[in-house]
Amino acid sequence: MSRVPIVAITGYMHEVNAFADPVTHGHGLQVAETPGGLAATWEAGPAMRRLRELRDVQFAECPLWEFGASGPLLDAHFQKIVHQVTDALREVGEVDAVLVMGHGAGRTTEDLDPDTTFLRGVREAVGDDVPVVMVLDFHANLSPEMCDLVDVIVGYRTNPHVDITERAVEAAEHVHRLLDGHRTVVTMCRPPLMLPQLAQNTLPGEPLGDVRELAEARIAAPVWNVSVFGGFSLSDVPDGGLSVCVTADRDAPEVAAAVAEEVATAAWDARDRYRTRATPMADAVAEAARAATGVRSPVILADTADNPGGGAPGNTTFLLEALLDAGVDGVVMGLQCDRGVVDAAWDAGEGARIVAHFNEGSDRPLARPFRVEATVLSLVDRPLVPTKGVYDGSTRHASRCCALDLGGVRIGVSSHKVQCADDDTLLHVGLDPASAKVVVVKSRGHFRAGFAHLFEADQIIEVGTPGVASAEIHQLEFEHLRRPMFPIDDVAEWTPVVTFHRGAMR
Ligand SMILES: [Zn+2]
Repeated sequence: MSRVPIVAITGYMHEVNAFADPVTHGHGLQVAETPGGLAATWEAGPAMRRLRELRDVQFAECPLWEFGASGPLLDAHFQKIVHQVTDALREVGEVDAVLVMGHGAGRTTEDLDPDTTFLRGVREAVGDDVPVVMVLDFHANLSPEMCDLVDVIVGYRTNPHVDITERAVEAAEHVHRLLDGHRTVVTMCRPPLMLPQLAQNTLPGEPLGDVRELAEARIAAPVWNVSVFGGFSLSDVPDGGLSVCVTADRDAPEVAAAVAEEVATAAWDARDRYRTRATPMADAVAEAARAATGVRSPVILADTADNPGGGAPGNTTFLLEALLDAGVDGVVMGLQCDRGVVDAAWDAGEGARIVAHFNEGSDRPLARPFRVEATVLSLVDRPLVPTKGVYDGSTRHASRCCALDLGGVRIGVSSHKVQCADDDTLLHVGLDPASAKVVVVKSRGHFRAGFAHLFEADQIIEVGTPGVASAEIHQLEFEHLRRPMFPIDDVAEWTPVVTFHRGAMR
């Protein structure tokens, strides 16, 4: 092509916990409208910079919606977003490629696969021949229909997700090759595996760490990408669960299929190695008490079921109450999300004694009210910019916060929910986890990257707390998930089936 190619960038990123309350589009952020536009965002910025390095290109910045993790999106609001995006793409006119920043675990109040609906909107706007590259979170619930619509699928390989920037850069390199006229074929293979989130770490020695290494070893011409998706177990959608997606040169569908089958089989063969149960709360508190008295090394307790990163509100007090009841000393924890408590602390001022009413007025069983006397340690109101782990360098809007001393337990409280995925989040409110005997985080697994400098693997306890992001998926009532699925069902055997999608002769 003689003119400078136009690459449109758009996206819809949502990880839906079906057991959490529905949300509106007011809960999302249209990041193309943030200061600096898409080039300044962690979602699209690295891809744009890389593509500019590779070639002369024009970008068309279309709406890119980021919802984080929460309950299902109101369907009418989702439809508005799709229309906004298709209108924007049509306005651009002649688009040469589209880069979609997705998450892949969406669900609306009516649509069980809005990621496909979104992609259909993109296809309708740009036509069938324009190459589309999509970036997805490791926790995507990949559907065959998504694979029909996209030329290259690039999933985060790591969990905790420490390769987000690298994958955006990789996606840009695929866009570059597609603009040069190269074409692909997409294949998919998915075993009947739906793992709880705590079984999905990809660190070395973990079962999915081994699968990740195998997948990475298979990325060489003619294979463009091998993505292993853990799936988001709490979405309760038909396409939930683990999947493997392989993109290769268009004339190498057999190679792509063989790799998809090999990697999916490796994930299936590891099924007895996945950790599927968290530590009961009483055992975790007992271990914390041992750490507090110096009988063992310090521990970090993960309040797995109330992880804001898994769509939970970050407001449960079960673990807090259990630690206070047991008289465990030297505890630093956070961030509890409770606007009322933060406001009371701000009204009283630093150093004041207050009665903290957590979940005041709530009649919800998971957000039960809890009162405790407290001293206000700090009041904080500035953006949080973590320096390590998954959120390294990104601006997180922790809003107005405080830290309270509850006697034995010092706790950070924020007005909006924030996953505590790094020590910076606790330092932000003036609490130092390095000097604590017991640290408690509202996080399921991302904290592993942001606390790796403080805690070894044997100091980590994943606690089986009550909450909507529960690891105890055996206890959840799934309505839409395809069955049977290991480990919630008995599945003795599985014969791999590879499906062929975009670019395949059918
Ligand atoms: Zn994720």
